[in-house]
Amino acid sequence: MAVISEAALDAQQSGNEWKRIRVAYFSMEIAVAPNMPTYSGGLGVLAGDTLRSAADTGLPLVAVTLLHRKGYFRQHLSAEGVQTEEDEPWKPEEMLQPLGPVAAITIQGRPVMVRAWRKDLVGVDGHIVPIIFLDTDLDPNSPWDRQLTDHLYGGDTFYRLCQETVLGLGGVRILAALGCQPAVFHMNEGHAALLTLGLLEEQVNEGNLLDASQSDLDAVRDRCVFTTHTPVPAGHDRFSMDQARQVLGEEQTRALEKFGCCHDGVLNMTYVALRFSRYVNGVAMRHGLVSREMFPDYPVQAITNGVHAATWIQPAMQELFDRKIPNWRRDNLYLRFAIGIDPTEIRSRHREAKRTLLSTVAERTGVRLREDRFTIGFARRAAAYKRADMLFVDPARLAQIAEQCGGLQIVYAGKAHPHDDLGKSIIHRVFDAAANLHTDALTIAYLENYEWELGAILTGGSDLWLNTPRRPYEASGTSGMKAAMNGVPSLSTLDGWWIEGCIEGATGWSVVESDNDAEEAESLYEKLENEILPLYYRYPQKWAEIMRMSLAINGSFFNTHRMLYQYVTNAYFPGDPSTQRKFQSELLLAR
Ligand SMILES: *Cc1c(COP(=O)(O)O)cnc(C)c1O
Repeated sequence: MAVISEAALDAQQSGNEWKRIRVAYFSMEIAVAPNMPTYSGGLGVLAGDTLRSAADTGLPLVAVTLLHRKGYFRQHLSAEGVQTEEDEPWKPEEMLQPLGPVAAITIQGRPVMVRAWRKDLVGVDGHIVPIIFLDTDLDPNSPWDRQLTDHLYGGDTFYRLCQETVLGLGGVRILAALGCQPAVFHMNEGHAALLTLGLLEEQVNEGNLLDASQSDLDAVRDRCVFTTHTPVPAGHDRFSMDQARQVLGEEQTRALEKFGCCHDGVLNMTYVALRFSRYVNGVAMRHGLVSREMFPDYPVQAITNGVHAATWIQPAMQELFDRKIPNWRRDNLYLRFAIGIDPTEIRSRHREAKRTLLSTVAERTGVRLREDRFTIGFARRAAAYKRADMLFVDPARLAQIAEQCGGLQIVYAGKAHPHDDLGKSIIHRVFDAAANLHTDALTIAYLENYEWELGAILTGGSDLWLNTPRRPYEASGTSGMKAAMNGVPSLSTLDGWWIEGCIEGATGWSVVESDNDAEEAESLYEKLENEILPLYYRYPQKWAEIMRMSLAINGSFFNTHRMLYQYVTNAYFPGDPSTQRKFQSELLLAR
């Protein structure tokens, strides 16, 4: 395997910047910029944060995704909490550069032309990570094919399989056309798994896929890395064999069958990725274990997710770090040095972030919250397992706690997938509770259209971040990490990253585990009433120390700089010490 420095030298000499790329990162969604609706939630935000850290730490990486001209969706909520959705079209022409090459792929036996756009992410020292957006809205394509790159997670399974074909096969061909030959292809979730088929096609050259030899398969496997992101079954794409045959063709489908990519009589994208990857990981320690139980034939490892510190830390807190920990942007691990900052300074910076939150709530909902009131934030996809309504299991109890402990404000946000009626009903229930429970001591607001910027305001400005997933479905969760970097502790079920991040009473609090929702809710109330609210209102100095611990202990670890460093060492270039050393020195040493 060529090392980075040699590749960089090659690239300089040949003048082809694509040649220096060592890693291709494929993701169906990427949160690139707040004004680009090319992501739906956690997976896309993680992808974007990963790329921002790759740019900061000098990793020679390219990302590949779809253009999603009409975005995910904009959420509207009626006064009663009924969700409706609207397309979110944007203008790629104004934000991206067109790239030259056009690639042809085959869908349903006909050629579909794929072109590409480019956007560069620039790191703290000027290193560039290009993102390639695939687009089928091209003249020779039929009207149906032209809208294949319009809607993120829109349409039916047929549309989805066509999109995954564009991402996987189109992506591999566009990279080849650019002269880009990455040593590693990283599939961020199973959506990108068909890239393995593209690599196998390259491997057998013009030959028949069914004739691929063991060494052909191994050659593909040697280049592929796969991250699985959820134990929720709906998160694992499955397509009928008929559909596979229709979209991909007979030879391709038979090859996938022959090489062990099908499971229970369907084409399962997780199995495609597992079968063709030399390294597989889950996104937190517990998720690695859970995934190993789900896929016992595969040695699933774990690298815990992170978030990109400079993207999620609020401006007032950033100023403080620039003064006290000047190297934190180049290397997020330096956030550990926050342990040396005066806690009252952290608290006063957080108060500025809280003001931003309260004014955002006032602007968007008309609800006026108080700055001296304890404020809980809860924002995430309204999926059933996240249990957004857990605080309302016993509404009278919640009202009583608010009354007796000095007052409580709760701010919610979150979208339900357009087809998720259960998720929509949860939003409705939170609205109902807010209307019924409103008193002088308890105020609840729900903000519509949860997205990146609102996410930053909420995680940075709340006093406590609440998370109540049903175990073991929260593979990692990342919003609590954003909160931690802003000095905001979490109260959460022990699932996903919180198993690693929770030091009880020091970085936050856990909900006592039970298989019974009511018992877990009871534990939630109990912690709020007896520990958290008294501490906040009566011992502000101790509270500020907890804020500092969240920052120093959790902010310094649950970031994408550390996460990428682990990918480089364990997944991308294991046993390639020169590559690792090069990367480590860029990552760890201030220049
Ligand atoms: C961080 C983020 C998420 C993911 O949060 P989880 O805690 O993993 O649910 C989803 N949506 C947006 C807009 C975010 O910023």
